[in-house]
Amino acid sequence: MLETKNLKKVYKTKKGVSVNALNGVSIKFPEKGLVFLLGKSGSGKSTLLNLLGGLDKYDEGEIIIKGVSSKDFNQSHFDSYRNTYVGFIFQEYNVLEEFTVGANIALAIELQGRKASDEEINSILTKVDLEGYGDRKPNELSGGQKQRVAIARALVKNPQIIMADEPTGALDSKTGKQVLDTLKKLSEEKLVIVVSHDREFAETYGDRIIELADGNIIEDMEKSVKIVAKQRKINEDNLQFNDTTVVVKKGYHLTEDDRIKINEYIDRVNSNLNIKVANENQGGSTGEFVKTDESKIKYQDREFKLIKSKLPLKNAFKIGASSLKHKKIRLTITILLSFVAFTLFALADTFGNYNHIKTCTKSIVDSKIKYATVSKSIKVGDGTYSYWNEYGNYLSKGDLKKINKETGLNFTGVITPNEELTLGNIDTNVKLTKNDSYCAYANSVSGFTTLDNKKLKEYNYKMIAGKLPEGKNNDIALSEYVFETFKKAGYVNGNKTIKINDYNDLVGKEIAIGKSKYKVVGIFDTQVDLNRYKDLSGDLKGNS
Ligand code: ADP
Ligand code: MG
Repeated sequence: MLETKNLKKVYKTKKGVSVNALNGVSIKFPEKGLVFLLGKSGSGKSTLLNLLGGLDKYDEGEIIIKGVSSKDFNQSHFDSYRNTYVGFIFQEYNVLEEFTVGANIALAIELQGRKASDEEINSILTKVDLEGYGDRKPNELSGGQKQRVAIARALVKNPQIIMADEPTGALDSKTGKQVLDTLKKLSEEKLVIVVSHDREFAETYGDRIIELADGNIIEDMEKSVKIVAKQRKINEDNLQFNDTTVVVKKGYHLTEDDRIKINEYIDRVNSNLNIKVANENQGGSTGEFVKTDESKIKYQDREFKLIKSKLPLKNAFKIGASSLKHKKIRLTITILLSFVAFTLFALADTFGNYNHIKTCTKSIVDSKIKYATVSKSIKVGDGTYSYWNEYGNYLSKGDLKKINKETGLNFTGVITPNEELTLGNIDTNVKLTKNDSYCAYANSVSGFTTLDNKKLKEYNYKMIAGKLPEGKNNDIALSEYVFETFKKAGYVNGNKTIKINDYNDLVGKEIAIGKSKYKVVGIFDTQVDLNRYKDLSGDLKGNS
């Protein structure tokens, strides 16, 4: 199902130095089981995982997915693969702190364009051993439980492959074990690829360990198959005979009968025998690692089904990381729209042990969100597969009037020209690192609106520097949120990056949005609580 051939990836740094992150890696992955990508920091593990998941582009070689070579892929094949076949789990939990566990899963389901039912939420919670936790807030959970909520979110699309980059990196070893137990269980039916630098975890849990150093595979070992199949039984049996090992249940004392059995076994195997005490841990195993034999791996690939993507690559990371930013992220907006719908029309009180509509509504109210972005999406597709399409479905003046009338709230329209509204070319005005732009900062603006003093007052916005534009063509005022991006990233002018510390540092400067240039004349505060997003503004990839 998944294979790489001579995969190469070169990173070019700004100074023109090339880093060979992957030097021609060929791997044939099994259809299921737990495969570890092991190696020191910088060895290329994350690079390999990102390429395997279609999150990044390779420079040479190919990836064969369900019998189709990536050479014959176009972008929509990749989008389809990533959004349908692969579930991602990162070191940071990808859990929305503001919402209950159940709401987190409900949102993931709605993002798939399906309606979340309590049955589905409960069934997914059971898969990650979190039944009964639906009403908890993430801050009432341990790190290991939070990570399992992230796994639950990844399971929503029922992926055939799960990819996890250092999923236990932020956890102590005990909670890390719970996460691996869950991944181990899932690997009975799915291919689970885990990036780790922890050899002990890899040896305890892995069915196969592929070790990388400097972008090369230096070792590829698999656990002897017979042992793997038997290991789950260790909880029931006091004694187990596996190849050249006798495994004794922890705490069990041998009887005379056992001694006879072992002696008989010794006669039969005709080799040295190891006696081991089994780890209590259900997922653990006592198998021995042997050199991987990829010729045993046989695929039964049915045709690669191209499913139109709901999440273009641009948004794939952002979704996990974004929470409810005050910024245009199409799918987040769909969620918000659902929320508004829930808030207004959710009078139905369904029975069952978990009620997601009530919980979602309560979550919004509890977290005191005073601002929301609304956009128009239209449901397309047939009964079996449908999704919310926002592209090109703009709100008309009439729509706006209707929303304001029906909600009693005061939404204002945003004009979005038909082009990408990136801030500079990132290189010209804003020098955000890749990770930052995936996080809470604005690497593009949502659109333009007209503001005057009356509107400022109405919305309780305040000018915090400069003044409102007076109608000159290219004058513009920015929201504080956009200012924060420049504060984080600096203002780039030619080769120089100028540090922006104060609001006034940005006033008077020329910035590029999309293909046009504007002069910043003022900055206004929109009362967005940026602190809510501060956890998202760090380095997404963690430290290795
Ligand atoms: P690991 O996950 O094993 O720690 P990575 O795959 O992240 O390693 O990195 C492999 C190598 O590629 C390292 O030398 C790293 O510095 C380099 N690298 C990774 N990402 C980038 C990037 N975006 N730009 C330049 N070099 C990078
Ligand atoms: Mg890494």
